[in-house]
Amino acid sequence: MSSAAMLRSDLTPALRLVARTTAEDQTLQSSVPAQIEFRNVTKMYGLIAAVTELSLSVRRGEFLTILGPSGSGKTTALMMLAGFEAPTKGDILIAGKSVAAVPSYRRDQGIVFQNYALFPHLTVRRNLEFPLEMRGVKASGRASLIERMLRRVHLDAFGERMPSQLSGGQQQRVALARALIADPPILLLDEPLGALDRNLREQMQGEIKSLHREFGKTTICVTHDQEEALTLSDRIVVMRGGRIEQSDTPEALYDRPATRFVANFLGEANLLNNPQLGFKKSDSPGTVPMIRPERVRIAAKHAAPLPDQDQRQVVSGTVEEMIYAGPLRKYQVRVGDDLLIVREHVAFGQETFGPGDTVRLDWLRADIRLLSE
Ligand code: ADP
Ligand code: MG
Repeated sequence: MSSAAMLRSDLTPALRLVARTTAEDQTLQSSVPAQIEFRNVTKMYGLIAAVTELSLSVRRGEFLTILGPSGSGKTTALMMLAGFEAPTKGDILIAGKSVAAVPSYRRDQGIVFQNYALFPHLTVRRNLEFPLEMRGVKASGRASLIERMLRRVHLDAFGERMPSQLSGGQQQRVALARALIADPPILLLDEPLGALDRNLREQMQGEIKSLHREFGKTTICVTHDQEEALTLSDRIVVMRGGRIEQSDTPEALYDRPATRFVANFLGEANLLNNPQLGFKKSDSPGTVPMIRPERVRIAAKHAAPLPDQDQRQVVSGTVEEMIYAGPLRKYQVRVGDDLLIVREHVAFGQETFGPGDTVRLDWLRADIRLLSE
């Protein structure tokens, strides 16, 4: 008997339905392009539409982030996928099959919630044992899996601790370990780093990235944190009011936002719809020209013109504020009624401007993006 077959014979009949062999995986891969698919999914709570007509496909092994402000429907979308909520309309498919009739405990997904949701009365080791027990892994086989996973998340010395005896970052690593230990093909993360302070958050972002590289789980992460989304994801879906606003790679979303909402939500945006900035409202109705702060150059008022000056828009303004942000300098520059943001890397010996200085700003016309309202 192969080891996969042995493992499967260990499982209860109900759980056997969700155990998959490598061969089955390969047939799924070739016949089904998306591992997860939302088809026109709507969720109503009374008269409130939490999610409206959501259609979305996630590839096997992809790290997809749903990004949006509070109340935009992110958690609702994830809870429907996990089987804790049912869609009012539409369907969700996993590996090509509707999961409408599949209860949450049979969906074979690892889940990490924002508030960790560890079992408070169980040790770390027992927390990790639980999913293995649920999957019907025999007691004799569990210990080595648990030890390996504890080492992997750098908690080998903490197996006998209770969750309350761990720091926030350690608890979150236990939650990740618990989600991964039974080897589910899908990992769902809801604001996984929301409760951690900044340094720890950055460290855990690295940890999540390396776990994804190593285990290759199809991952859906939900967050309102743009930096987290940009750092972790193969693809980002921006949600607004229960609908998808735009979906693309992090680079493309940042560089070519389609709407004003996306431009503002992912980073800072200078809107140029003002005659003194080269645009009139009537130039292109329904759209707003935008330039990212790092695409704007700042120079002394009478600095020599640049060789590509004819491809640039040039304005003059007055510095109101200069903020050091580590290796970056950020300026707020008043140009008539507008306050433009300029961000630049600080090079050694580079000229600095202060409040009250008159400066010249310029940017390439090719770097301007037209956003829809
Ligand atoms: P997010 O996770 O993006 O912050 P949610 O999915 O939690 O957003 O919520 C989306 C919308 O649905 C919000 O308006 C919220 O108030 C509403 N909502 C979520 N869950 C429920 C519920 N159980 N009952 C009623 N309304 C809900
Ligand atoms: Mg939420």
